[in-house]
Amino acid sequence: MRNALSVDVEDWFQVGAFETVISRDSWESLPRRVEHNTDRVLNLFDAAGVKATFFTLGWVAHRHPALVRRIAEAGHEVASHGWDHRRVFTMTSAEFSKDIADARDAIEQAAGMPVTGYRAPSFSIDARTPWAHPVLAEAGYAYSSSVAPVAHDHYGWRDSPRFAWRPLGDAGLIELPVTTVDVGGRRMAAGGGGFFRLLPYAFSSWAVSRVNKEGRPAVFYFHPWEIDPEQPRVAGAPLKSRLRHYTNLSVMHDKLLKLLKTHQWDRTDRIAAAEQERLS
Ligand SMILES: [Zn+2]
Repeated sequence: MRNALSVDVEDWFQVGAFETVISRDSWESLPRRVEHNTDRVLNLFDAAGVKATFFTLGWVAHRHPALVRRIAEAGHEVASHGWDHRRVFTMTSAEFSKDIADARDAIEQAAGMPVTGYRAPSFSIDARTPWAHPVLAEAGYAYSSSVAPVAHDHYGWRDSPRFAWRPLGDAGLIELPVTTVDVGGRRMAAGGGGFFRLLPYAFSSWAVSRVNKEGRPAVFYFHPWEIDPEQPRVAGAPLKSRLRHYTNLSVMHDKLLKLLKTHQWDRTDRIAAAEQERLS
């Protein structure tokens, strides 16, 4: 079974965990590594023979249009990760509407292709943002992959469905939540990011197989900075954030290659279309 593979294209200083110590005003002055790291991801996908979706920040697309063009020309999907990683539940619906419009303009201009998918920064569409899916549908998006149906300290919408669902009813936009598994009565995020990097390889690989046995595609993601052990260290960040951010960066590349070769992967827009078909 094909699973949805995705990369959230943002730089080392743009992650939610460092938001309190690195202000958006300082971003412009920091050394950017996203282009180099994303090129390494493209090489990795080429080596594994897989196509994927790159949920890209408008801020990044605006500054690195050639990178976005290379992603699209390699046959991958370029989709939106919002403008500057502001979490959806911190915005009004009007601010959200502007954020996704600005991001899409920058990404489409760079890619030369239409953007039809969106992933909220830090999976920040939840019970607090009932207007978010309607705003995306109104803007013409085909799918969203923005919800984590778990209880977690930074994010989560515990009571939302584990698998593809239609937030607006029968027609239109589909939501593809990040993969979770129930282990010993507890629901765990198992769709990548820090979980894939910090936990043993066997757990993530088992989770993909487990979800496939349930007849559903897994939805997996990671970040370009996760394969960059040389990135600058953020000194003032909380210990928990630093542990999560810097552990196992050097093993990530090979761990990913193994996962990519063990399971079947595809772009998120194609998985979303197949799930739409199944729900019809
Ligand atoms: Zn992100």
